[in-house]
Amino acid sequence: MPAILFVEDDATIAMGVEYSLKQDGFQVSLAYRLEEARDLLKRSPFDLVLLDLGLPDGSGYELCKEVRAAGNTPIIILSARDEEASIVLGLDLGADDYLTKPFRLRELISRMNAVLRRRGPVEASDRTLTCGDVAVVTQQAKVYKNGREVLLTALEYRLLLALVANQGRLLTRTQILAQIWDVDEDFVNDNTLTVYIKRLREKLEDNPQNPSLIKTVRGLGYQADG
Ligand code: CA
Repeated sequence: MPAILFVEDDATIAMGVEYSLKQDGFQVSLAYRLEEARDLLKRSPFDLVLLDLGLPDGSGYELCKEVRAAGNTPIIILSARDEEASIVLGLDLGADDYLTKPFRLRELISRMNAVLRRRGPVEASDRTLTCGDVAVVTQQAKVYKNGREVLLTALEYRLLLALVANQGRLLTRTQILAQIWDVDEDFVNDNTLTVYIKRLREKLEDNPQNPSLIKTVRGLGYQADG
């Protein structure tokens, strides 16, 4: 049973989500403040942290940094702040995914399962996939560009793997979303995939503004080309 730390100061959301996650087989510990969350983290390990940003005694970003500094426990940010800047900051601080409020429970659970699977294979194979100067070593879930390792979050890795495993072929937004998050396109904020593609390009492209590895097929989706 995955142990979830849910940091959320809105009691209505906290208790509603806690109840539903328990029904779905998760073990949930609630913290209303950063201090409570820190205490709980000291006492026992968690499989996943769900993190609100606006908390009474500080910002969820602080905890995000601390959790990431302590290990690789997956973090999903739950926030009403849907501007790209705050999303990007959360991802920069090591969050694996984010969801903007209000969200649907089914979507939250899909995202949670996606990060809990971590680097589970999109395609079951132990081999190295190459695309241009990028190599994906699937057995180790590691990515190299020109022989140098590039650190990706779990979802960035899954997205890259899906694209590279299908290189030369267009993947529609719907196909990508189904592979990465196991949900219908309707359930994912339209920005989400765009943000992840942008981040992958920043990490992997020689010129992120003029990508040669991950190409946009306007209005349809994306395609990896070596
Ligand atoms: Ca809040």
